[in-house]
Amino acid sequence: MKGKKIIIAIDGYSSTGKSSFAKKIAQKLGYIYVDTGAMYRAVTLYCIENNLINDCGLNVDKIIENLKEISIEFVFNNKNEKSETFLNGKNVENKIRNVEVSNHVSAISAISEVRTQMVALQREIGKNKGIVMDGRDIGTVVFPDAEIKIFMTAKPEIRATRRYTELLQKGENVSLREIEKNIRERDYIDAHRDTSPLKKASDAIILDNSDISIDEQMQWFENIFQSVIKKQ
Ligand code: C5P
Repeated sequence: MKGKKIIIAIDGYSSTGKSSFAKKIAQKLGYIYVDTGAMYRAVTLYCIENNLINDCGLNVDKIIENLKEISIEFVFNNKNEKSETFLNGKNVENKIRNVEVSNHVSAISAISEVRTQMVALQREIGKNKGIVMDGRDIGTVVFPDAEIKIFMTAKPEIRATRRYTELLQKGENVSLREIEKNIRERDYIDAHRDTSPLKKASDAIILDNSDISIDEQMQWFENIFQSVIKKQ
């Protein structure tokens, strides 16, 4: 699966397995994998740690004012062979996955100034192609000319169970109900915000992975990849 480098944009609902799929594709092609959700999560963590979110809601003006203080990088960890998220020089890979961050991330992601900064960074990372980027607006906004666009979906109960199992394995104390509620709320906010709402790009291919394994998804992808790469 080598040849001319392209951009692969993977969007879709929360917990549809976008990152596992995107990572596998990147590994297979020798491409760079970019988790854009991690970037929005890192901004959210910054807001939590700097008291820009409280019980009354978000301090949007202060968040916008503080954006220039936020620097996000991905650093490859040779030990676990994973790319990890750094916020202002600190490894926050584990912290950004916790429930508190998940509960606020969609509200932070709806702020258009936050999106402008993240999209600029995403375009910079992808400017030389050879990337697999997953998120909510990659095929619609970040790289509307991406050569392959995939829109992932799966049954809500399957998505909630996947996420719940993942968090339990990480030692988080969560309930399945709480996870289901979070996934539903995030999907709603993500799909209804004014700036870059989550939606399928008109030229994206839908992948419903409710009942198919990762190996079957890879086989499905390989067929698409071969037909696209032939035309390049
Ligand atoms: O992908 P993940 O579930 O980690 O993303 C967390 C949240 O970040 C999403 O629910 C969404 O609110 C936001 N996000 C976004 N645009 C992206 C990626 C993520 O708004 N491209």
